[in-house]
Amino acid sequence: MQSRLAILQGTCDSICLRSPPRSGLTRPLLETDLQDAACRICHLAQAELLLSPCWCTGSVQYVCQGCLREWRGRSSTRIVSCELCKVAFQYEFNRVPYPQRAFFVMLHSWRVFALLTGATVCELCWSYGVIVQQPIPMFLVAGILFEFGYELYRSCGEPQFGTVCHSLRRIFTHSDVDDMDLWELHKAEWAQGGITPFEVEAMSSHQSHGGRICLQSVAGYILFVFILIWVSAAPESWSWIESHQMQRLETQVCKPFLTAGLVYLICVSFLHFLGAWCKPPVQLVIDYDLLQPRVRSLYMYEKRTLSGRNACDGA
Ligand SMILES: [Zn+2]
Ligand SMILES: [Zn+2]
Repeated sequence: MQSRLAILQGTCDSICLRSPPRSGLTRPLLETDLQDAACRICHLAQAELLLSPCWCTGSVQYVCQGCLREWRGRSSTRIVSCELCKVAFQYEFNRVPYPQRAFFVMLHSWRVFALLTGATVCELCWSYGVIVQQPIPMFLVAGILFEFGYELYRSCGEPQFGTVCHSLRRIFTHSDVDDMDLWELHKAEWAQGGITPFEVEAMSSHQSHGGRICLQSVAGYILFVFILIWVSAAPESWSWIESHQMQRLETQVCKPFLTAGLVYLICVSFLHFLGAWCKPPVQLVIDYDLLQPRVRSLYMYEKRTLSGRNACDGA
């Protein structure tokens, strides 16, 4: 576990730790003897509330939760690292509880579920003989095609939250999926404070970059063909919307496309729910007084004295 800790240089002279998760990080970690320890801001020794959230040592090692919260809340910009040692904070996390899991999945794939709802309503209307006004079905088909292309783009390389590849990874990867998810959550939080870790570009990421461009081209091509079909089918003017030609277009293009799209969206939604069911997702614990994730203490192995000596020499 210890060897998997990675120390990366980030933007703004910051240092970012990529630390593998440990279960049950829902309370502050204090692994040291807290005798004579006091908060570096209010100087009070309230041991049960003290955190050691960064690489600072000596009289500035500890800070109490209240002072840290107040200091983070006072700034108009997001504070995501220690101002002295520049270590980006690590946050508490937990698993998304069962009742919230469906909501969590839908939140991270909201476009899929919005399109799914629209396409289902449209299909139901058609099956009951209700005419759906154009261009609603057209926009739905265009939306599904866009979502398909965007999905391909986001799945390439390191799959992002809410993509099919991410859900497949949840289903089939067992060991490091939490590690990767937690890293993405931390990066997203640090990014709000203007910190991005410089990640070592491996060969695979070069390949995935090439693959991403390829998939982007394919997605762009699909959209271009669709727009061509749309435009060529009705070259005259917008008056075609209620014409017979439009009716023909609807039967020949819209209906089959929308039906195929609906099947695609159902499969995608199923995979997202299955992924969340197989391996419950992790989330950062939010401090509701601050509306930001709650900072945790570093483990001893995450501290500068035991590991990362090289990284802090350069800092
Ligand atoms: Zn304090
Ligand atoms: Zn510090």
